[in-house]
Amino acid sequence: MDTVSKADIPLPKPRAFEPEVLAAEIIEKLTYAIGKDTKVAKPHDWLTATILVVRERVIDKWMEATRAAYVANAKRVYYLSLEFLIGRLMRDAMSNLQMMDEIKEALASLGVDINVIAGLEPDAALGNGGLGRLAACFMESMATVNIPAYGYGIRYVHGLFRQQMAEGWQVELPENWLAHGNPWEFERRESSYEIGFGGGVETVNNSSGEDVRFVWKPSERVIATAFDTPVVGWRAERVNTLRLWSAQPIDPILLDAFNAGDHIGALRESNKAETLTRVLYPADATSAGQELRLRQEYFFCSASLQDILRRHVQHGNSLDTLPDKVAIQLNDTHPAVSVCELMRLLCDIHGMDFDAAWDITWRTFSYTNHTLLPEALESWPVPLFERLLPRHMQLVYAINAKILIEARRQKGMNDQEISKISLIDESGDRRVRMGNLAFIGSHSVNGVSALHTELMKETVFADLHKLYPTRINNKTNGITPRRWLMQCNPKLTALIREAIGDAFLDDAEKLTALDAFADDKAFQEKFAAVKRANKEQLANLVASRMGIRLDPSAMFDIQIKRIHEYKRQLLNIIETVALYDQMRSHPERDWAPRVKLFAGKAAPSYHNAKLIIKLANDVARVINNDPSVRGLLKVVFVPNYNVTLAETMVPAADLSEQISTAGMEASGTGNMKFALNGALTIGTLDGANVEMRDHVGEDNIVIFGMTAAEVGKLRAEGHNPRAVIERSRELSQALSAIATGVFSPDDRGRFGGLVDGLYNHDWFMVAADFDAYAKAQRQVDGIWANPTDWFGKTIRNTARMGWFSSDRTIRQYTNDIWRA
Ligand SMILES: *Cc1c(COP(=O)(O)O)cnc(C)c1O
Repeated sequence: MDTVSKADIPLPKPRAFEPEVLAAEIIEKLTYAIGKDTKVAKPHDWLTATILVVRERVIDKWMEATRAAYVANAKRVYYLSLEFLIGRLMRDAMSNLQMMDEIKEALASLGVDINVIAGLEPDAALGNGGLGRLAACFMESMATVNIPAYGYGIRYVHGLFRQQMAEGWQVELPENWLAHGNPWEFERRESSYEIGFGGGVETVNNSSGEDVRFVWKPSERVIATAFDTPVVGWRAERVNTLRLWSAQPIDPILLDAFNAGDHIGALRESNKAETLTRVLYPADATSAGQELRLRQEYFFCSASLQDILRRHVQHGNSLDTLPDKVAIQLNDTHPAVSVCELMRLLCDIHGMDFDAAWDITWRTFSYTNHTLLPEALESWPVPLFERLLPRHMQLVYAINAKILIEARRQKGMNDQEISKISLIDESGDRRVRMGNLAFIGSHSVNGVSALHTELMKETVFADLHKLYPTRINNKTNGITPRRWLMQCNPKLTALIREAIGDAFLDDAEKLTALDAFADDKAFQEKFAAVKRANKEQLANLVASRMGIRLDPSAMFDIQIKRIHEYKRQLLNIIETVALYDQMRSHPERDWAPRVKLFAGKAAPSYHNAKLIIKLANDVARVINNDPSVRGLLKVVFVPNYNVTLAETMVPAADLSEQISTAGMEASGTGNMKFALNGALTIGTLDGANVEMRDHVGEDNIVIFGMTAAEVGKLRAEGHNPRAVIERSRELSQALSAIATGVFSPDDRGRFGGLVDGLYNHDWFMVAADFDAYAKAQRQVDGIWANPTDWFGKTIRNTARMGWFSSDRTIRQYTNDIWRA
């Protein structure tokens, strides 16, 4: 076989896109791939058959891209992320291949409604929130702007939990996205690697007795097997690969033990291996700190790096050229152990000396920081790290020695500065600092919005920034306009095309042409009609899922995101209670009808976040059932927030709530989705909101509250929330109602602790920002009262949000960091 030049075999003739061909193929797949007669096929079978047909068009482009990359031997980008929140894939693939209408027609000719089967596709939730969704948008944009890129992560059997409500409390249920199989993935048994844990390190001496080589002898081993999912770029410009690792036992069953009658013991090793990739850690903005989590991190990093080196060498490249051919982006610190793993592979397996390996390592990696929250900064107890990864612990010490000696000798750093940049935190029990490891092991460290990047320089990485003053840079996040405009909002997309043509489909910044229509009466009416239709769709979803009727002519005021105190859903709920009071006290005023919609999951162990969900539901029950409100205010908490739900809620929003405590949201991407889809934003000067204001213009966004600098100053000087609350009548009344059980008659003390927290410390500045927020909400009412004004502003939002396309972000990474 090897005498035949395999590269000379041509690719098969690409599949056709005519509806008749597609219909025939769907029947063929149903029959020969799934083994079902059309007479008995279930909707799920139709879905699988359709995906298989779409998939073949994807594969045609995938093979083309893979061959071209092989020939070009160009620099490849590897995006390492413990999370990929990709959601459903079928619509994405069909839309990017531009075969949506053809598939619809093909299915219709077979009597199948595309919307029914599309609604059955599971939402792949291999992530918690923004960080994982960013990785998914980046994968799509890298394919779109034609970067040869691979995403590497974990194929969790169970993604983020399903959220149900039980009397207003969050209940977590297991999620099972693989229950019906996954037609998008290809198992690659040949791409399997051994991953070790534990054991010890042996040294090999040379003739003069010096330690020259270290050999790690792990006590446990598992196999990492690759599962590949193709990721299609816009107009199928390119198809890249998302490679997710699954843990398999080396010996599926210990036959000796089984034959000796120990049936459970025979499977113990196998179960332990598979446990590694069984579940996603459900926490967001906190570090898990569990041994299994560190095992997951090392598992996927080791497999990915072995794979990257294998591919590099297989192309005939020498390891010295790794930084020229390979760029590895670390999505937060979760993959930071990669720095040690690459050092180990280069030194111990490939026999490179330490300094040469270090030079290759830091030139290959770059790191994205996603948060300044201290509770989210990963660090591992030294004893745990050493027990699980003894060789990597040695390397941490060796890297640390190199860096600290340089810092002392060349930069004259003092003890205090040295202790801040050290890879080991000596302040309590000794811990390995993953943020410092990622920083030191990379040539680029980026923040995700202009404000966050500046704060990084002043806070977490102040001392490392002094040592490496050119390393920190900014890459403001973005979202893919394919999923977050074209697919989720086809009506708005059609309207924009009608007005300004198709250029914006290929370059989102061309949306600025829409500015000219912002005050055009006829266009405003069409824009309003699209928004109305999207609101009707959301109202239908809420009616069918929750039995609550919403009036689509009311303002849809939406806050959807993970539930966290810094995101301040509590501020929104308290203001809702205050508004409820006002509406009852002043029924004669001209109140703008509002629907307050919330959705989001709380980390299962986050007590206050779960209590905030319960409060939203308790407040909703009371307000929605009070006839004196006359339907002017409704409150709805929609269960089980995920990408799919966001795709329905975002296009239906009039008002987008982006109200985090200034300085605490690194960027936010939900904020961008809403504004792009023609919502007005009420928000603080936090994360990317700052740049959104710069782009849409300060007249087209409602900004309120303290700045990050003011928050810092108030915290330093001492904030007296009790005095603030007592000065505000509206706030004290609302808090008193919540604290005394007006919304929780069955348990009057339920929210006492939550309210006490505001009186006693108010860490998230809810009380401090309340009056400014309430005032901003009345300003929003004023704008709403004048539809010409309202639609002028919201059209300008859509027109001016193109810069927040993740295509722009990816181009910046490519030019400044990856140089691919
Ligand atoms: C965009 C998105 C997020 C991030 O939202 P933020 O408001 O930026 O926190 C989280 N979850 C899902 C499902 C998303 O689509």
